[in-house]
Amino acid sequence: MHPVQSALRLPPCSLLIAGRWQSADSSFTVTDPATGQPLAQVGSATIADAEQALDAAVAALPLWRRSTATERASLLMKWHALLLEQREWLAQLLTAEQGKPLAEARAEIDYAASYINWYAGEALRLAGDWQHPSVAGRTLLNIPEPVGVVLVLTPWNFPAAMITRKLGAALAAGCPVIVKPSEYTPLTALALAELAQQAGFPAGVIQVLPCATPDPVAAHLIASPQVAKVSFTGSTAVGRLLMQQSAATLKRLSLELGGNAPVLVFADADLDAAVAGIMAAKFRNAGQTCVCINRVLVDSRIAKVLEQKLAAAVMALRLGVGTAADTQIGPLINQRAVDKVKQLVTDALAAGARLVCGQTLVPDIGHFVAPQLLSDVHMGMTICQQEIFGPVLTLQTFADEQTALQLANQTDGGLAAYLFGADEKRNYRVANALKAGMVGINVTAISDARIPFGGVGTAGFGREGSRYGINDYLQLKHLCWELAD
Ligand code: NAD
Repeated sequence: MHPVQSALRLPPCSLLIAGRWQSADSSFTVTDPATGQPLAQVGSATIADAEQALDAAVAALPLWRRSTATERASLLMKWHALLLEQREWLAQLLTAEQGKPLAEARAEIDYAASYINWYAGEALRLAGDWQHPSVAGRTLLNIPEPVGVVLVLTPWNFPAAMITRKLGAALAAGCPVIVKPSEYTPLTALALAELAQQAGFPAGVIQVLPCATPDPVAAHLIASPQVAKVSFTGSTAVGRLLMQQSAATLKRLSLELGGNAPVLVFADADLDAAVAGIMAAKFRNAGQTCVCINRVLVDSRIAKVLEQKLAAAVMALRLGVGTAADTQIGPLINQRAVDKVKQLVTDALAAGARLVCGQTLVPDIGHFVAPQLLSDVHMGMTICQQEIFGPVLTLQTFADEQTALQLANQTDGGLAAYLFGADEKRNYRVANALKAGMVGINVTAISDARIPFGGVGTAGFGREGSRYGINDYLQLKHLCWELAD
C-alpha cells in the first residue's frame, strides 16, 4: 500500500450502505493528477456489496416515496447548507483528485450546491392534475410517482456537480439512489455522502459504492429488475453499452454523453467578447468539459484577426498545479488522456493542420498538456470528429451562413453549440438550425441549475436541471375512479 498525502482531510474512504460506512475487502489508490502522488486508499465495492446496497435502497423506497414534500425539501436544504459550509474542504478534495484550479473547484461546489437548492424547491412544487371526466360520476387523477431505485453513474470531470445534478432530482422525486462515482474521483463523492449523512437522510436513501473497476458491479445492478432506472453521465461509448445492458429489463435511462461543440463567429461579432467566451468555454477544466468548444468556425473575412487574438490569449494561459493561486490550466486526469490528446494533434498536423501556437513549458511530473491552437483543420480529421478533452483549440473558416451550419452540424451528436454575431435575426435562424441540445448566443457560460441540460443524437437523452429534470425520475399513474355517490 502507498503512503498517502497527510495534509488533506479525507472523507470516510469506504462504502456507504444502509446509512452506515462499511469497510470493503479490497481498496484502490486515488492519485493526484498534478503530481502522480497517492492521495488515499478507497474501499472497492464487490457484487456482494452491490447486493447489500440494493437491498437497502429497496427497503428504503416505501418510506422515502411517502415522505412529505416538506420533509424531502428540508433534508435537501440542510444538505445544501452543509455543502456551502464545507465548500473549502470539498474544493480542496476536488482539486487534489481531479486537478482543476482551486477557483474552478470552488465554483463547481457552488454549482453543485445550486442543484440541491433548486430541487428542494421542485420537491415542494411536485404536482399532478385532475381531469374533467367524459363519463359522469368518474374522477380522473394523474399522479406523478417516483420510478423507484436509481443507479447513478458519474464521470470524473465534475466529481461534485454531476452527482448533485442527478441526486437533487432523484431525491426530490422520492427515489432512493445507489451512486457509483468515477474511480478517479471518489473522494468528492464520499465527502458529499458524509454531508448527506449529517443532513439526516434516512438510512438506505443514499448508497455510495466506489469501485476500482466499474463494469461488474454496474452490470450486476443493471441486470436487476429492482433497479428501475440508470442515470449515466460519461462517454458515448459507455452510454451505448449501458443501453444494451438495460434492454433486458427495459430500464429507464438518462444518458448525458459526450459533445463536440462548435462556436460560429460571424463577421459582425464583437471579437473581444468572442475571444473571452471561447477561451472560457474551451480552457475551463483544461478542456475537459462536455460543453467545451472543440471547433471554432469563423467567417474567413475575420479569420486572421480572430486567430491572432486567440493565439495571444492561448499563450497567456498559466499552466500549473491546481492549488497554486495563479493557475488557469491544471493537468489532465491521467496518462491515457494525455496520450489521446497528443495523438489527435499529431494526426491533425500530419493531415495538413497548421500549429498557430503552443506553449512549450510543461511541468515534467503529472499529466499536463500544453495549451495549443491549430488552424487549417477540416471535418475529415479525427480532431474535428472526436471530443478533444484537452487544452487544444481548432480553427476552420467558412464563407457563408449555409457552410457554417453545414460544418457545425457535421457531427453525430450535439450537446452545446455557441455563436457570436450582431445580426439577431440571423442569430435566431442559426440557433434554431444548430443540431444541439443547448445554444449560447453571444455567451458561452450557459450552465445553470435552471436550464434543461442535455443533448441530441449521440450526445444522449434526458434533461438535468430546470423544471423538466425531475420528470426523468417520475412516472405518471392515472386513476380512473368510479365514485359511489
Ligand atoms: P466514462 O464513460 O469512462 O465513465 C463514466 C462513468 O461510467 C464512471 O463512473 C465510470 O467508472 C463508469 N464506467 C466506465 N465504464 C463502465 C462500464 N463498462 N460499465 C459501467 N460503468 C462504467 O466517462 P469519463 O471519462 O468518466 O467522463 C468523460 C466523458 O463524460 C466525456 O465524454 C464527457 O463529454 C462526458 N460528460 C458528459 C456530460 C453531459 O452532461 N453530457 C457531463 C460531463 C461529462
